[in-house]
Amino acid sequence: MYKKHTNAHNGYLCFMTAIQQLAIWLKSPAKMVIIPHKNPDGDAMGSSLALNGVLQQLGHTVTVIAPNAYPTFLHWLPGHEAVVYYESTPESANELIDEADFVFTMDFNTLSRIDQMGNHIAMSKAKIVMIDHHQDPENYAHLMFSEPTIGSTCELVYNIIVELNLRKHINEEVASCLYTGILTDTGSFRFPSVTANTHKAVAVLMDCGANHSFIHEQIKDTARPDRLKLLGIALQNMIFLSDLNTAYITLSQDELDACNFQKGDAEGFVNYGLSVAGITMAVIMIEYRNEGVVKLSFRSKGDLPVNVFAKTYFGGGGHINASGGISKRSLAETVAYFVRSLKTFLS
Ligand code: 5GP
Ligand code: MN
Repeated sequence: MYKKHTNAHNGYLCFMTAIQQLAIWLKSPAKMVIIPHKNPDGDAMGSSLALNGVLQQLGHTVTVIAPNAYPTFLHWLPGHEAVVYYESTPESANELIDEADFVFTMDFNTLSRIDQMGNHIAMSKAKIVMIDHHQDPENYAHLMFSEPTIGSTCELVYNIIVELNLRKHINEEVASCLYTGILTDTGSFRFPSVTANTHKAVAVLMDCGANHSFIHEQIKDTARPDRLKLLGIALQNMIFLSDLNTAYITLSQDELDACNFQKGDAEGFVNYGLSVAGITMAVIMIEYRNEGVVKLSFRSKGDLPVNVFAKTYFGGGGHINASGGISKRSLAETVAYFVRSLKTFLS
């Protein structure tokens, strides 16, 4: 079932060894916490809530603790109503972590991706299980499922469930969560990371009850008119650096305010740059004035490693074709620094 492959961190044998260990740990009922990364996306929440659904069926006591809120287009996900937010209730969240026998960290591989929560996890007595598909994992977990060749953590969770012989526990709710993360992390099944295995997994998820049409509508067709106004501004603001095959968008706090910005509104805007012929790198820089930061998202085509660029110049990371980072400069200074850095990087 699981496609044999090898990579720098984990081979098929490593994967199966990790499966055997996890199977032993799952034998007796335990207290478990599942943690997606900060600003959780469809893959982080989908994988967390899917795992939550399976573990609960096995009789474990499970809580999903999100570092902070996530976009409303993910609020329909089965299990959403029980998610605890670390940002709003840190004390009770810390208690859950302190009492946990197992902590699963989902769709990230460095504790800095969950801010202050990371310190608490590092001190906890719990066994930590990493389930992730980013490169260069940190060494914080007792058990690692680190598979950078897989397009989404949800596909990886699917593989894990199948290899644990738990496929019968993929009910409609679990299937819908897994489908969501595969959909969002593959750009609706179009990124190079998609394999025949991805489609086979999706076929099984549909057999288990995932309603693809309903899910696409929830994710793609539930925007507020203000979001489209903001998209209009973003596209107007797009600058083409033709000699660098790059397009970038800026959004200032004032522009966000004018469109009553809500978390997730700018999701996907960055990709528009890549729809232009000849553009191989697209960027969006969004000013969050209250936090004193500009958040950057990078996308690329081919072998242009935007994760290396994000890590080198913006303290971030991610995947070869999709990454992000942060700047503490003003928006205008961030743009200037970005253009300078890109020229150096490409030369
Ligand atoms: P997005 O641009 O959608 O926020 O993120 C794209 C990818 O880059 C995701 O895989 C995400 O995990 C990664 N990423 C985004 N922001 C950061 C960051 O600040 N640090 C790191 N290490 N990765 C990031
Ligand atoms: Mn992911």
